Amino acid sequence: MTDADGLRDQDGGPDTALRGSARYRRILLKLSGEALLGERQYGVDPKFCAFVAQQVAAVHATGVEIGIVVGGGNIFRGLAAAARGMDRATGDYIGMLATVMNGLALQDAIERVGVPVRVMSAIAMNEVAEPYIRRRAVRHLEKGRVAVFVAGTGNPYFTTDTAAALRAVEIGAEVLLKATKVDGVYDADPMTVPGARRYDRLEYTDLLRDQLKVMDGAAVSLCMENDLPIVVFDLNGQDNIARVAFGEPVGTLIAGPAAAGARA
Ligand code: UDP
Repeated sequence: MTDADGLRDQDGGPDTALRGSARYRRILLKLSGEALLGERQYGVDPKFCAFVAQQVAAVHATGVEIGIVVGGGNIFRGLAAAARGMDRATGDYIGMLATVMNGLALQDAIERVGVPVRVMSAIAMNEVAEPYIRRRAVRHLEKGRVAVFVAGTGNPYFTTDTAAALRAVEIGAEVLLKATKVDGVYDADPMTVPGARRYDRLEYTDLLRDQLKVMDGAAVSLCMENDLPIVVFDLNGQDNIARVAFGEPVGTLIAGPAAAGARA
């Protein structure tokens, strides 16, 4: 494969002939830290990382450009530490560092399945990750590399959901895929409330008004202002990332009135 500037792509990016078969050209996948727990109580489950990596590779092989924002809740949450008396900003910085560890684990897993990856950090740590530079991130994607964005937004008092919305908008992703443990947004917690109802689609304003606890308000507002659709889906379902990327009605679509109403 050659670039527009005539250089050979050393990483062997996806075949351009395959592009166009998926619904989205560029996606931003948000993986919570908890998702990486797999069967564990703490830390990262290599088996689950491998499962995610295989799904990412399958989507990548179709030519979809993939950015990933990873959380840190499996290791550290600033808010929980603040509740125990720690300075909030300090706790948040520890939380951001936790996302870096997750990102490196994910990089390893994705590389093992033969897909080129770059980790880009919002907090400078040049020995372990590239600094996040928007134009460079876009270049990585264009060259067929998966970009894993770590250290959240680089600022305390934010979440990695907001970082995901921010990076998605910055890199021009067409959709934000929020991977969770349940298959969409419900009107009550389906783990504890029998008969809880799942929504196929919602508008941003429903999420903000009803405080459905899917994403924080800052993240939803950023998506709404930039007309960026969100799909909340179950990461554990086989091939679910690919199914969402191909526009199948998986999970819950959150969008503006026109798009939210148009979904089959
Ligand atoms: N965090 C932060 N700023 C950011 C993103 C994250 O301070 O822009 C901190 C915050 O303390 C948060 C922790 O990093 O609790 C881990 O991120 P998050 O809770 O969003 O991870 P997830 O729930 O997705 O695993």
